[in-house]
Amino acid sequence: MEPGIICFQHCGPKIFCKALPEKCPICCDDLSIANFGLLPFRVPYPFVKASQYSCAVLIKPTNGDFLNEYFNSKDLHIGITTSTGIIIEFDRKGLQKRGLYWDQCLLIGQLPSSWSDHWDDVLVKICKQPCWTSDSYKEESFNCYTFVLAFLRELNCGAMSEAATSRTTFCEKFIVPRTTAAGKYISLYRRLRDNGHFVHWQENKKKQEKLRN
Ligand SMILES: [Zn+2]
Repeated sequence: MEPGIICFQHCGPKIFCKALPEKCPICCDDLSIANFGLLPFRVPYPFVKASQYSCAVLIKPTNGDFLNEYFNSKDLHIGITTSTGIIIEFDRKGLQKRGLYWDQCLLIGQLPSSWSDHWDDVLVKICKQPCWTSDSYKEESFNCYTFVLAFLRELNCGAMSEAATSRTTFCEKFIVPRTTAAGKYISLYRRLRDNGHFVHWQENKKKQEKLRN
């Protein structure tokens, strides 16, 4: 599922592509015998499969996937995995136990396996609370995020639990940095979907300006 974006630098700016071209798109040199300013490397893919991360908090778009359909943070859905990687989520249908549709997520945080018993115990305790029903669900104020933060507060362990006392703090500390980093990959992916390569001129120009001053 990973698109495999490659980055390299030959005679100037960074060039992003899905497959290394025969010639440099800037100076047309033969790349098979070229000296690279930056050797080709694969841009790290930011997304993970939820089932491969136990005792974790993850986010995904409410509908569709990050690469093609994600638009902004209002469209995000958050869930928790058990120690065996099963997703527990709260949505308009109530509390759900699922493994499907969580193949392209961002990892928000994870606890080491030494914490798995405590993690599962707290999760069972929270899930038994009678408030997580489809009737009590409210799209803006009592949603997937409410459930995850209630769990993290009850877990009482580490930075995620501390931040979970406030919806805003948790979002600023744990969600925004992840979606911002992923946003760069998403915009690269979308540029390359329509073109063979993408030249990152801007940063290069800024650097040249800095050198001149
Ligand atoms: Zn070149």
